Amino acid sequence: NKRTKIKDLLVQEPTGQEVTVMGWVRSFRNNQFMAVNDGSTNNNVQVVLELGKLDDETLKRITSSASVKVTGKAIASLGKGQKMDLVADTLEILGDSDPMKYPLQLKNKPTLEYLREIAHLRFRTNTFGAVFRVRHALAFAIHKFFNDKGFVYLHTPIITASDAEGAGEMFRVSTLPLDNPPKNDDGSINFREDFFGKTTNLTVSGQLEGELGATAFGEIYTFGPTFRAENSNTARHLAEFWMIEPEVAFNDLEDNANLAEEFIKYLIRYAMENNRDDLDFLAQRLAEEEKQLPQDKRSEMGLIEKLEFVMNNDFERVTYTEAIDILLQSPAYKKKKFAYEVKWGIDMQSEHERYLVEKHFKKPVIVTNYPAAIKAFYMRSNDDANPELGRGPTVAAMDILAPGIGEIVGGSQREERYDRLLERMSEMHIPAEELWWYLDTRRFGTVPHAGFGLGFERMVLFVTGMTNIRDVIAFPRTPGSAEF
Ligand code: ATP
Ligand code: MG
Ligand code: MG
Ligand code: MG
Repeated sequence: NKRTKIKDLLVQEPTGQEVTVMGWVRSFRNNQFMAVNDGSTNNNVQVVLELGKLDDETLKRITSSASVKVTGKAIASLGKGQKMDLVADTLEILGDSDPMKYPLQLKNKPTLEYLREIAHLRFRTNTFGAVFRVRHALAFAIHKFFNDKGFVYLHTPIITASDAEGAGEMFRVSTLPLDNPPKNDDGSINFREDFFGKTTNLTVSGQLEGELGATAFGEIYTFGPTFRAENSNTARHLAEFWMIEPEVAFNDLEDNANLAEEFIKYLIRYAMENNRDDLDFLAQRLAEEEKQLPQDKRSEMGLIEKLEFVMNNDFERVTYTEAIDILLQSPAYKKKKFAYEVKWGIDMQSEHERYLVEKHFKKPVIVTNYPAAIKAFYMRSNDDANPELGRGPTVAAMDILAPGIGEIVGGSQREERYDRLLERMSEMHIPAEELWWYLDTRRFGTVPHAGFGLGFERMVLFVTGMTNIRDVIAFPRTPGSAEF
């Protein structure tokens, strides 16, 4: 079935050429003008029906969201709104739709919250059309960026026995019969037999396996689904999200930060060059939404301006210690505006991250060298404990903080020294036997190496200007939403 996509049609010169388009009716007026959309762009093609040619029965079936096939001639439009009209020779209704029952028709201006309830249909709106075309473009750009640099795309496992983060946020994968699970002597369920005799979970990060790849190929990246049993309802956490995790041999923390900054800028530039229509639409949407906010809550820059600024300016780089000092000196802290405590040695909350980015530096910030005590076991120690200040050592970690979101990247230089790694694992009660395969990278030709994880949905949030992470993934998994 040959059809012309509306996106491709609208850039042609209308010289009377015959084309066939297929899509869904967005609106129909005066029994004559039909706006048809096929998802390739937010722009509709205006189909003009010849008055009197169609019978009443067919006219009645042209309702919003009915699917149609139109063959006709593309001519210069006499109307003001568009360059081109498609004058129909034949019209076929492929699928009827009852406008009184169509969920997108039932609300006049459907809110994002309402659209989340009908996530199975929300792709048909202009907002979600734009968001998911941008998401697609970014996914493609990720592969292009790393492929052009010679990285190997490594598929790390989804079912795994390792808990990379040690944060205990895992979903268990089990084959136990629910009605009659194997029991221990004391009658409790024997979870050791979860997965054909092993305890397994859904991956929280592909990093540890990624390190195996990096210490063989030199440079790898992963890009896959990641699962965390986040029982929190925030605008930036999902139970199922996608993560990009490059891992590079011979890199230190600074190389790592440079790679991450280059990568983020590349992704923004790619979307700006390839999806400008969609970004312009989203920018407009955001500007209208912000008009409803009080003056002091509005952003200083529009979406396009923000993306251009981030793309063309260096990210700020500070240490964790400097960041804490800035927060302690801030008017927000002095006026007790923060809900959470600020103190050297505890993790920053999103309110603190956003303060640094939005109020203090007014640009993305790379924070380095966090206290070892609040980071995972595999990060390289800076061996800089300061007993006089009562401070333990920091590690070569980095988080990248973005406006409107807070953390979008978490990464580090890894502890490549075998003895130091063993020591750290034992301090954190991580049994070496369980990670024997990981430790082998340190036993046989260990090298300095570093990597990071970029949360894909947080990047999509950033580029699209959307504010809730549920609106940038097709089928959000959060507590209470996993219907389809
Ligand atoms: P946060 O502090 O926001 O909970 P994290 O420090 O737990 O994030 P990391 O373990 O560093 O996250 O994971 C790397 C990246 O993955 C994060 O920087 C973020 O972009 C993304 N990420 C982490 N958890 C989630 C989640 N639940 N939903 C969506 N993205 C996430
Ligand atoms: Mg977390
Ligand atoms: Mg964090
Ligand atoms: Mg992190």
